[in-house]
Amino acid sequence: MNDLLLDIRGLKKYFTVSGGFLSSRRSVVNAVDDIHLKIYRGETLGLVGESGCGKSTLGRLIMRLEEPTGGEIFFHGENILDYSGELLKNFRRKVQIIFQDPYASLNPRRTAGSIIGEPLIIHKLSGRDDQKEKISQLMEVVGLSGEQVGRYPHEFSGGQRQRICIARAIAIKPELIVADEPVSALDVSIQAQILNLLKDLQKDFGLTYLFISHDLSVVRYMSDRIAVMYLGEIVELTRNRELYECPLHPYTRVLLSAVPIPDPARKRKRKIVTGDMPTPLDPPRGCAFHPRCPEKIDVCDKIEPVLKNRAGNSGHFVACHLR
Ligand code: SF4
Repeated sequence: MNDLLLDIRGLKKYFTVSGGFLSSRRSVVNAVDDIHLKIYRGETLGLVGESGCGKSTLGRLIMRLEEPTGGEIFFHGENILDYSGELLKNFRRKVQIIFQDPYASLNPRRTAGSIIGEPLIIHKLSGRDDQKEKISQLMEVVGLSGEQVGRYPHEFSGGQRQRICIARAIAIKPELIVADEPVSALDVSIQAQILNLLKDLQKDFGLTYLFISHDLSVVRYMSDRIAVMYLGEIVELTRNRELYECPLHPYTRVLLSAVPIPDPARKRKRKIVTGDMPTPLDPPRGCAFHPRCPEKIDVCDKIEPVLKNRAGNSGHFVACHLR
C-alpha cells in the first residue's frame, strides 16, 4: 500500500460562533484541529467517532465544500487548496461525495435519469446521442432498472434513492469517494445491500473510499484501515483487524466495548464512560478525552498527547500518554 492518493497535512477548521442575539461575545469551535492523514489508492479508510466529533467537516474540507482555517490537502501531490476555476472543476470530477440522507440530496423535481445524467453534462462526458444509454447502464450497475429512468425521487424507496446518489457519484468515474454516513438513514435490512454494492463498485471501478460513520460495525465491515476521531482530532489510526484485536486508545476501547457481539454465548465487558462529549466551544485542556477517560493519570489534564507511531508496531498510531 504505497500509492498515495490524498495527503492531509495539519488541516484545521475553526468556526466562529456568536453568543446569541443580545450578546456580543464570540467563541471559536475547533471542528477539525491539526489533522494529518494519508489515503492510499484502492483502500477504504474508515473514519469513526461520535456525532459532532468533526468527521463530516473533514469530509467536506476534502471536497472543498468548506474552506479550511489552515493546513494543506495534497491530491496526486498537488495542493488542491491552490485550485480555482478549471483546476477545481477538474478536481471535483475526480472526487465525489455520497451523503447520509439520499432524499435531501436529490432534487425532488428532477427524474432519476436527469439527476444521474447531470454530472455527465457538466463535465462534458457524453453527447445527447449516448447520454440515455450511459444513464441506463449506470442505473443497472447500481441495481436499478433502466425503465425507472423517468421516475421522481419520491417514487423510490430509501435504498433505491441511495442507489441513485451512488450512480450519480460514479457517473464521472471518480478516483476518490467520500461516503458520509451512507447507510445511517436506511433500514438495517437495506444497509448490507448498499454496503455490498459499494464494495463491488470499488473492485469494478478501482475506487478509493473515505468511509465516514459513527457505527463501528459498519466501519469494520467496510474498511482496510480505521481512524478514530474525538473532538476534532484523530486519536488512533491503524489497520482494521489490529484496531479490533488490539485497541490502544481508551476512547477506542470504550467505543468497541459498546459494540454487540453476534453470539449469545459470548459477552463483552462493557467499559463505562462518564459524561457526554465536551462542547467543542470549550474543549478540555491537555488530552481532550481526560474528563471521560477511565485510565486518566495526572499529566492528562495538563499536556496534550500527540499522535505517534508505536515503536515496533508500524502503522499503528495513537495519541495517549499511556501508550
Ligand atoms: Fe486517557 Fe490520559 Fe490517554 Fe487521554 S492521555 S486517553 S486522558 S490516559
